[in-house]
Amino acid sequence: MSTLLADLLSRDPQRIWSSACAVIRLHGGPALDELAAHLPKIERETAGVALGGALFPNSEHLQQALGVLRVRRDGVCSCRLYPIYLMYDPEKEVQAGRVQMLYADGPSNWNMNYRCRCFRCGTDYDVEQGESHYAWWQWRAVQ
Ligand SMILES: [Zn+2]
Repeated sequence: MSTLLADLLSRDPQRIWSSACAVIRLHGGPALDELAAHLPKIERETAGVALGGALFPNSEHLQQALGVLRVRRDGVCSCRLYPIYLMYDPEKEVQAGRVQMLYADGPSNWNMNYRCRCFRCGTDYDVEQGESHYAWWQWRAVQ
């Protein structure tokens, strides 16, 4: 059993939180496949564990990690994950080669609008960047 899987099944809030954050950063590979194969067990064992969180609820990270595993299991494009989580920085997605930046514009460094295109499936997204206690990005698929 991988460390990530052991942590997700541990019912220990700190271990679940750190492994969830690691899962969100996985974008393919055998580690993700192994975890996706254990999805029902992970969903069962993480249910009801209070994860806490100060400025941002840690349960959001776990829910996103479960989303990453579901997308992997179902074989749909991972860009479907962007609109349901506020932590996907379009600049980092560009650097990682997952999206193409079509434009970037805005009144300030912290209030930007982007349009990005998924390299894999071609879906376009409008991305609004804002900041409260942390920077966030709201992705919306362009209809
Ligand atoms: Zn896509």
